[in-house]
Amino acid sequence: MAPTPAWETVIGLETHVQLRTVSKMFCGCSTAFGAPPNTQVCPVCLGLPGALPVPNEAAVRLAVRAALALGCEVHERSVFARKNYFYPDLPKGYQISQFEQPLATAGSLSFLSPDRGVVTVTIGRLHVEEDAGKSLHDRFPKATAVDLNRSGVPLVEIVTGADVRSPVEARAYLLTLKQVLEYAGVSDCDMEKGSLRVDANLSVRRPGETALGVKTEVKNINSFAFVEKALSVERDRHIAVLEGGGAVVQQTMLFDSKTNTVRPQRTKEESHDYRYFPDPDLPPLVVRPDFIAEQRATLPELPAAKRERFVAQYALSQQDAAVLTAARGVADYYESVVHAGAEPKLAANWVMTEVLADAKDHQDQLRVPAGRLAELIAMVKGGTVNNQAAKKVFVELATRGGEPRTVAEALGLIQVGDTGVIGQWVAEVLEAHPAEVTRYKNGEAKLLNFFLGQVMKTSRGKADPKLAQRALEDRLTA
Ligand code: ZN
Ligand code: MN
Repeated sequence: MAPTPAWETVIGLETHVQLRTVSKMFCGCSTAFGAPPNTQVCPVCLGLPGALPVPNEAAVRLAVRAALALGCEVHERSVFARKNYFYPDLPKGYQISQFEQPLATAGSLSFLSPDRGVVTVTIGRLHVEEDAGKSLHDRFPKATAVDLNRSGVPLVEIVTGADVRSPVEARAYLLTLKQVLEYAGVSDCDMEKGSLRVDANLSVRRPGETALGVKTEVKNINSFAFVEKALSVERDRHIAVLEGGGAVVQQTMLFDSKTNTVRPQRTKEESHDYRYFPDPDLPPLVVRPDFIAEQRATLPELPAAKRERFVAQYALSQQDAAVLTAARGVADYYESVVHAGAEPKLAANWVMTEVLADAKDHQDQLRVPAGRLAELIAMVKGGTVNNQAAKKVFVELATRGGEPRTVAEALGLIQVGDTGVIGQWVAEVLEAHPAEVTRYKNGEAKLLNFFLGQVMKTSRGKADPKLAQRALEDRLTA
C-alpha cells in the first residue's frame, strides 16, 4: 500500500465544447474555422440594436445527443439566460447561456483513472450557450484587436462535480470525455482550434476531511498535456501556501505554458456579479419527449460499450480493445478488416502496429482499404509472404495502392516454399561458413539462428522461415 498522502486534491472541471454545426447558435453566420477576422458576422452576433436571436435546431439536437451520451436527464423545458459582463470581445455586453434551468442535469462519466482504477464522476449539468469573440494581443503593437468570428458559435458547457482527485485523473477524464463526444458526433473536440476548452476548480484538504478547502479556478488550459501540468503546478502552490501557514485566496489563475507557472487574473466573481436573468428575446427552449427519444435511439455505440463488445466478440484483451476503440474511425476500420475475413487477433495486431503507425504520419488517414489489409493478412497466414515481407507490401499499398498479391509479386516478395530451392540456399550458406558448421556440431546450438539469418539474406527475404529452419536442422544433424 502506498502511504497516505498529506493532502488530498479535489478538482471539478468545466469543459466548453463547440458543437459541430455549419452555422452559429442564434444566427446564420458560418462557423468555419480560419476565415479572415470579422468576416463571419451579422447584426445578431455583432449585438447590433434591434437584432433578434433565433435558436439553431441543429445545435439543440447535438446538445441533446451530448447530454444523452453522458447519461444526463434531458429537461423538456430549459431557459436561456443573459450572463452580463463587460469585455471587448462580447459585443452585446452579455452572453446568452443557461443558468437556473439548464438543458440537462444528473449525468455521469466513467473512465480509467491511473491512480484509482475505474472512476465515475457526476456530470452536474450540461447547458447550451454561445461563444464570445476573441481578443488578439499580438496583432498590432500596443493594441488589442477583436475578432468576432467566434461570437455566437454554439457551445455546450459540461460541469462535473468535485469528483476528480488528481491532475493526472483530470487528464484521463478529459480524454474519455473527448472520446465520447467524438463518437456521438457532436464535436470534433479539437483543442488547437478552440473547440474544446477547459476550466478547472481546484482545492486541497487533509485526507478524511469532508469540507472543501478554498478553491481557485485555473483558466487558459489549451492542451491535454497542459491540463495535468497546470493543475499540478496549482496544487503544489496551494500546498505550499497552506504548509507555510498562509491561506489560499479564492481567485482565477491563468496558466502560462511557456513558464509552467500560474498567475492570478482577477478576484473571482460570484455568480450574482453576472446578474443572470432569463433572456426576454428568447422563449423557453422546449424539446419534446419524442425528439429526445429519437436522439437516444439513434446514438451510436459508445466507446465503453464497444470496448466490452470487442473483448467478448473478438477475444481481445482489455488493453487491445481500448487501443482499437480509442477513435471511432479506427474501431470501424478494424471491424471492416475482420468482416473482410481476417482473423480478429491477427487483424488487431496489424491495426495496432502498422496501420496506426502509418496513420500517425499521415494526418490520421487509414490509407490501406480494409479489404486489402484482410487479403494481405490472409497471404501471411497462408504462407504466401512472410511477416517481414508483408510489412513492405503494406507500405507500398499505403503509398501507391494496388492489390497485395500483385504488389508482393512486383517486389519479388512471394515466399518460396519449394523445399528444393530452399535446400539449395541452405547448402550455399553452409558451404560458405565451414567454421560455424564445425562449432555448431561441437555444441553451439545458438548458431542455428545465425544460419537462418544467412538463409533469409541469401534468399532476399523470400525463404519460408519455418521450412528453412527445418532444412538447416536436417542438414546439420545429418
Ligand atoms: Zn451572425
Ligand atoms: Mn460557460
